[in-house]
Amino acid sequence: MAIDKSAIETLKTKLSPTSEIVPPDSEKYADSIKRWSAAAEKPAGLVVYPTTAADVSQIVLFAKENNIELATVGGGHGTSGAASTDGGVCIDLSKMRKVTVDPEAKTITAQGGALWRDVDAEAEKYQMATVGGTVNHTGIGGLTLGGGYGFLSPAYGLVIDNLLSVEMVLADGTIVTASDTSHPDLFWAIKGAGIGFGVATTFIYRAHSQKSPVWGGLMIFPKPHLGAVIQMANTVVQESEPGPVMLMGFAALPPTCQPVILALVWFNGSADEAEKYYKSLLDLGPLVNTAKEIPYSESNTLANGPSAHGLRRTMKGSAFLAPLELSFADTIWDEYIAFIEKVPDAQETLVMFEFVPFKKILAVPQTATAFANRGAYGNILLQPTWRDKVNDGVCREWTRAVSRMAREELERRVGEGTDEVTKSGEGEYGNYDSLGASGKTVFGVNFPRLVELKKRYDPQNVFCKGPSLQE
Ligand SMILES: Cc1cc2nc3c(=O)[nH]c(=O)nc-3n(C[C@H](O)[C@H](O)[C@H](O)COP(=O)(O)OP(=O)(O)OC[C@H]3O[C@@H](n4cnc5c(N)ncnc54)[C@H](O)[C@@H]3O)c2cc1C
Repeated sequence: MAIDKSAIETLKTKLSPTSEIVPPDSEKYADSIKRWSAAAEKPAGLVVYPTTAADVSQIVLFAKENNIELATVGGGHGTSGAASTDGGVCIDLSKMRKVTVDPEAKTITAQGGALWRDVDAEAEKYQMATVGGTVNHTGIGGLTLGGGYGFLSPAYGLVIDNLLSVEMVLADGTIVTASDTSHPDLFWAIKGAGIGFGVATTFIYRAHSQKSPVWGGLMIFPKPHLGAVIQMANTVVQESEPGPVMLMGFAALPPTCQPVILALVWFNGSADEAEKYYKSLLDLGPLVNTAKEIPYSESNTLANGPSAHGLRRTMKGSAFLAPLELSFADTIWDEYIAFIEKVPDAQETLVMFEFVPFKKILAVPQTATAFANRGAYGNILLQPTWRDKVNDGVCREWTRAVSRMAREELERRVGEGTDEVTKSGEGEYGNYDSLGASGKTVFGVNFPRLVELKKRYDPQNVFCKGPSLQE
């Protein structure tokens, strides 16, 4: 049912003049519902672009009063559809992207609709950075509220471990600041399960001095080198000193479209140091090697190419206990090859194993934040990529099946005994969209506390997207 026009007119009078309302009959509408994954797009009943937290508050109240579903879009990279709504009101934060840096206080203040490239660019002016996304067109909103990994995680932990405060519009329209000293319980929930609690209009992050250049690039290897590439990656992930990060994937890249091993190599140091560190990879003679010294901000563009907007994509997270076993990686390779042969439309599918040294992430207890994916493991990202809607079902089903395999393997190996934090970790990064996984699956030991906080802060489940926080 269409949203009442007179109600929209009333809403308009309550918003600041710089805000914008886009109804379905607007020429801007088609663009306003576009998402990074075309499979995550839905026909909103109304899209509103606020420019202040007070605007956001008015939109939340409008949705509640008119009993209309509410969605919020930050960078639009979620593939679950949680940033879209079928017939409801969508708050699009893309007019709220301002970023400022306080070099004395070592803080970065960013509005809730900023992208990581906005943060990187501003921080770099002061030779600073914070932990942020490795693909710079992702939104800080979704990525931060769900935890957040980046190239600087080995040095400083997750994005949420560097979050100092959040200004948030709650379900009753109030605007609060959550931090360790103000609404600390809400702040705890925001750090991992934030999308279920409100609309974040401002984030303040701890900033760190960041030398430039760093070293990084993409390397491509033929399949027979998988064992040697994993050997290097296993050294990286178990590193106790921050410096390297390696993402290793399976992809069939143009122009040959032959399945290969893809390695995104990164090092927080000079080419000399990095080339010594990654010598075993370089000695393999990669088919392609773009690694060189680049500014830190540019290193967050290395994966932008294979991550272009507009295709149909889904994501599901899983994990492997470090060190990654070659036999398990081989099994996933076989599944990947069988899948792209069965569904040629899904040839651009990506499978990624993330070798991010986890010592610093494990230094924070599992229950210190709502995020419950801390473990001595690396994330696995399963990301089918296809073009024809008719393949939506088969792609999602494959993702679920492989994720189940990975989970069984993880449980087997964790069961063999390791540290307590890892045992309590979920082995599923919620920001890799989880394909409908329950709140209990994503938040594990922290789920009961989240259920209680949800009752207090959003009893009517206004922020209903994402894993359910209701019993
Ligand atoms: C190409 C690509 C690269 C990625 N790289 C990384 C990476 O390096 N590290 C990592 O940790 N993750 C990464 N991810 C996963 C990423 O964390 C999630 O996709 C995240 O949801 C993206 O946030 P967004 O704001 O762009 O998405 P959106 O689709 O806009 O939002 C995702 C969810 O967050 C909510 N949301 C967004 N902004 C706000 C806000 N301000 N207030 C309240 N709710 C909000 C939305 O309502 C939605 O439920 C990547 C994803 C992609 C597609």
